Amino acid sequence: MSFDAVIDVKDVTKSFGGLTAVNKCSLRVERGSITGLIGPNGAGKSTLFNMVAGNIVPDSGSIYFDGEDVTGVPPYKLFARGLLRTFQIAHEFSHMTALENLMVVPGDQPGERLANIWFRPDFVRKAEHHVRQKALDVIDFLKLGHVKNELAGNLSGGQKKLLELGRTMMVDAKVVLLDEVAAGVNRTLLQDLAANIERMNEELGYTFFVIEHDMDLIGRLCDPVIVMAQGEVIAQGPMEEIRANPEIIEAYFGS
Ligand code: ADP
Ligand code: MG
Repeated sequence: MSFDAVIDVKDVTKSFGGLTAVNKCSLRVERGSITGLIGPNGAGKSTLFNMVAGNIVPDSGSIYFDGEDVTGVPPYKLFARGLLRTFQIAHEFSHMTALENLMVVPGDQPGERLANIWFRPDFVRKAEHHVRQKALDVIDFLKLGHVKNELAGNLSGGQKKLLELGRTMMVDAKVVLLDEVAAGVNRTLLQDLAANIERMNEELGYTFFVIEHDMDLIGRLCDPVIVMAQGEVIAQGPMEEIRANPEIIEAYFGS
């Protein structure tokens, strides 16, 4: 078996008061895949993501990342290991340029270490140069060169989404979690976003785990697709199979 799960969720449960949001859920995300997660509102998708990203600790069950048990490991430690989720560009960052938004992503920037700043200014200058170069590469990759010096607050919705994606590229991410990243993005920019996710996957080896309501986007990007309903995984497979399964259509649209 060549199956290589970069994320392995085993029998995970999370309740809020009397409500079981995720119920003995098990699923795997294969390294190098773009795996989709779909299901009706309230199915438990975001709660599952929050547990994988370390934002919520499960009541029971285990989560493995890269073969290691990371259950209860906080987000910043998972981030350092290359498990990232995108975040909307925070208000505080809207007065910085697109390029600067990339440069401030905490990565392996030796310039942040005080000893280096005091004793090795030349080293710091080189490190800053490296970060700037990396940010320019990311800008190039995402074809945002024409807006690199625009304030992030002035970018269009779609450009902001690309910048969010770009921020994950400043760290050596292995897995990127996207929770409804396409919401509110128009059709044209959606194609841009999808194309960039595909290129990051194919050319740079990123694994994606994607929650999305847009079925066309899921169909285009994701294989396999995992379906959740009422806190449980009810199916998984290629989108064509999912679409053709009447029980899933019932569970998905029937509630
Ligand atoms: P989805 O992302 O699939 O729409 P969620 O994971 O957001 O579903 O929610 C699953 C269920 O858990 C819903 O019934 C929701 O109301 C509930 N829930 C989610 N987060 C919380 C919370 N922090 N406190 C209480 N209930 C929550
Ligand atoms: Mg959600």
